[in-house]
Amino acid sequence: MSIAENLKAVKAGLPAHVSLVAVSKTKPDAMIQEAFESGHLDFGENKVQDLVGKWERLPKEIRWHMIGHLQSNKVKYIAPFVHLVHGVDSLKLLSVINREAEKNGRIIDCLLQLRIASEETKFGLPEEELLTLLDSDAFRALSYIRIRGLMGMASFTENSEQIRAEFRDLKRIFEKLSTTNFKGKESFDLRSFGMSGDYKLAVEEGSNLVRIGSLIFGGRN
Ligand SMILES: *Cc1c(COP(=O)(O)O)cnc(C)c1O
Repeated sequence: MSIAENLKAVKAGLPAHVSLVAVSKTKPDAMIQEAFESGHLDFGENKVQDLVGKWERLPKEIRWHMIGHLQSNKVKYIAPFVHLVHGVDSLKLLSVINREAEKNGRIIDCLLQLRIASEETKFGLPEEELLTLLDSDAFRALSYIRIRGLMGMASFTENSEQIRAEFRDLKRIFEKLSTTNFKGKESFDLRSFGMSGDYKLAVEEGSNLVRIGSLIFGGRN
């Protein structure tokens, strides 16, 4: 099947309230161009250098999502154009994004990455740390970032009940924050979880933004 057909098939299986980021990491410009020409606008990359190169070369209507771990010293390269930063997991990184957003005269949308996987992982904030961050004065002082919601990755496991439980945890914390720290903030509206292997489970458990790569563009090495 062509990329356009793969995209169409994936979208046909998603409820209307669920958005799709087509994860184009490691894939050539031509594949992204084909997806774009079929009408898709949201693409995700996990390396700053690739994101910048593709932004420079491909149509400017594309909305670029940074889905990988972002290092503070590289924020400046994507700050002029990035549409949404998915994996923010520290106050330090948020502060740098805030500073670079101000320099570019824009507000940058971010998702806070929550550590939901029970397996050992370096990335994402445990719930307690997330709450501490959100309650800090330093966080409240940041006016060039906008927290649009939460992002998470489930454990790498075949156990679908475990994956389900991890996704449910993210949804629970999202709901809690919607009635506390983000009460009345309609812009706190995104729950980014689910990839090629688990997006159906993710949608059942309340994801409204799935990040799908291999199902659309084929496997990666
Ligand atoms: C690679 C990647 C995806 C997409 O993975 P697939 O299994 O190819 O769908 C989603 N989210 C993140 C953070 C990724 O790095």
